[in-house]
Amino acid sequence: MSTKQGSIGVTTENIFPVIKKFLYSDHEIFLRELVSNAIDATQKLKTLASFGEFKGELGDMKVTVTVDKEKGTLTVSDHGIGMTADDIDKYINQIAFSGAEEFVNKYKDSANSIIGHFGLGFYSAFMVAKKVEIVSLSYKEGAEAVRWECDGSPVYNMGPAEKAERGTDIILYIDDDDKEFLEQARIDTLLKKYCRFLPVPVESAGKVINSTEPTWTKKPADLTDEDYRNFYHELYPGQEDPLFWIHLNVDYPFTLTGILFFPKIKNNLDIRKDRIQLYCNQVYVTDSVEGVVPEFMMLLQGVIDSPDIPLNVSRSYLQSDTAVKKISGYITKKVAERLDNIFKNDRQDFEKKWDDIKVFIEYGMLTDQKFCDAAMKFTLLRDTEGKYFTLEEYRTLVEANQTDKEGNVVYLYSTDPIAQYNYIKQAQDMGYNVLLMDGQLDSHFIGLLESKLEKTRFTRVDSDIASNLIPKDDKKESGLSAEQVDVYTTLFRSQVAKVDKAEFFVTFEKLDNNANPVLITQNEYMRRMKEMAAMQPGMSFYGEMPDSYNIIVNTGSDIIKGITDKADAELMPAVKPMTDAIAKADEELRALHSKEKTDSADKDADSKQEQHLEETMAHERREREKAVSEFASKQPLVKQVIDLALLANGLLKGAELSDFISRSISLLK
Ligand code: ADP
Repeated sequence: MSTKQGSIGVTTENIFPVIKKFLYSDHEIFLRELVSNAIDATQKLKTLASFGEFKGELGDMKVTVTVDKEKGTLTVSDHGIGMTADDIDKYINQIAFSGAEEFVNKYKDSANSIIGHFGLGFYSAFMVAKKVEIVSLSYKEGAEAVRWECDGSPVYNMGPAEKAERGTDIILYIDDDDKEFLEQARIDTLLKKYCRFLPVPVESAGKVINSTEPTWTKKPADLTDEDYRNFYHELYPGQEDPLFWIHLNVDYPFTLTGILFFPKIKNNLDIRKDRIQLYCNQVYVTDSVEGVVPEFMMLLQGVIDSPDIPLNVSRSYLQSDTAVKKISGYITKKVAERLDNIFKNDRQDFEKKWDDIKVFIEYGMLTDQKFCDAAMKFTLLRDTEGKYFTLEEYRTLVEANQTDKEGNVVYLYSTDPIAQYNYIKQAQDMGYNVLLMDGQLDSHFIGLLESKLEKTRFTRVDSDIASNLIPKDDKKESGLSAEQVDVYTTLFRSQVAKVDKAEFFVTFEKLDNNANPVLITQNEYMRRMKEMAAMQPGMSFYGEMPDSYNIIVNTGSDIIKGITDKADAELMPAVKPMTDAIAKADEELRALHSKEKTDSADKDADSKQEQHLEETMAHERREREKAVSEFASKQPLVKQVIDLALLANGLLKGAELSDFISRSISLLK
């Protein structure tokens, strides 16, 4: 063989700086590329042997990675097909040309496993090496060993070499900047990361570092639950057992295998560390799978192995790639199918795991239309008694008793069964069922269900008094005169404790005597607006508003009757002059407004009169308010019953709470 010198067939003046700087951001992946090439070469020879095209001894086929600190070299050796000088010319010197294509065309049907990823794999060595040598002996009969070397300029040298054993040594003379790659520990870490599941044994410092037949490459029928669990723990040491798993296996229209695990997530949406790992023919590629799997599946763990996912490309490219889109769609479908399957075959087990997988399913339903449609069948609702229902079952359960007068089925729910204990109990006393919606995504999920389920409305159990939660006919009159409503409203409102960032509206309802004298409810709409505002910027208008509560005074309660009777007897006569004055001014104002206005002198006089009447009314109101408040402050029971309601809702705090306690004690004396 003659010695040869030539230019590497690239059009760019010098491709190496480009490789170094831009091609891969991670220098360390050169090792993945070189070991992958060594594995490919090994697999190719095995394939040739199986076709009878290679008749020699295969021998020990392991790939070896060796560092020599003294010489400053890192060597990757294999016993694969090797290369002749012509091969090197073709595959290395003309780097735009990738040999895998030719090989695959020839062995199309069985060569799936050796389709390498195309690119500049070998040249990534120049990211860390100042000089690279190839010493190779081809498997071909009569082949001569060949040495190729290149120092990072587009000029190479090629000539004969001494090499007895078939295969290839790739020798990297490591750059001064990259000395870390001469440390055995660093190499071990990298091999563990990238080569852990390679199909051919890889040895470094005398130890084989990989398991060559990882679980996902086996047939599901040959695997036990124990195998899956062991594999999970191998991938993610120190974690609890996974809830269940999905073994993926497709070969059309793309090739993909893998196992996805449902970890115990609880309520932590941010487990981003132990993520799904992406492999390409058992070569670790990355664990940032954004774009490859749907966003909500980022909560899952496990392995996806596909030669069809383009590697070393930008995220945005990955997301727009049609193959990748199909993969993502396929995974979604598979996951939904598997969940449906477990639900159908082992409902009990599914219910047991529901609380753990709920956040995942809700997240999926909220972000993926297709998954949502599929999941409507197996999504469960859990009530405060711990019973589980499908959406259909639940509707059947509550439809008869929980339909309001507009024909909407009202789903009652609690977000905190301890704080809302009383409301739940009262709703249950009316024969209503109450759902538990205390999950992290439940407020969004409720919105989703309201949009998906026909004529369905969710109402939190404390948003109104039990008998009003599901209005079935028109409201009954409270039986109070307008004047009474006016005066009583002031009477009670004047005694409501100051609560930070809260405002109260007083209303009257005639409820059962046994019901609490005063109840507090929170408007569903306002509460939801505030909750949404808390999660979304740009809705601060609602966020800054105080919480609004309704103080419902039960006029059917004897305690309240005692208070209002006393007010009727003592307060009403005292405020009568003011009430009359207000009524009179009001009447005159109305008359003035309905009067036809003709000439402008008239108009002037009228507007003066109007102003006077309005001032009179405001003045009389203030006076009356003063009188009512004064009366109220002398009725400790008024404040007492309101405080009891505040206390029941955890709203009574600080000085107000301590006042309440001393007042209670003096009332007991
Ligand atoms: P790719 O692996 O994507 O084809 P590379 O630049 O990594 O691109 O390698 C180019 C070609 O060089 C390979 O397709 C293969 O034919 C040849 N090659 C590289 N490394 C080896 C090796 N260790 N043994 C045999 N041939 C190799």
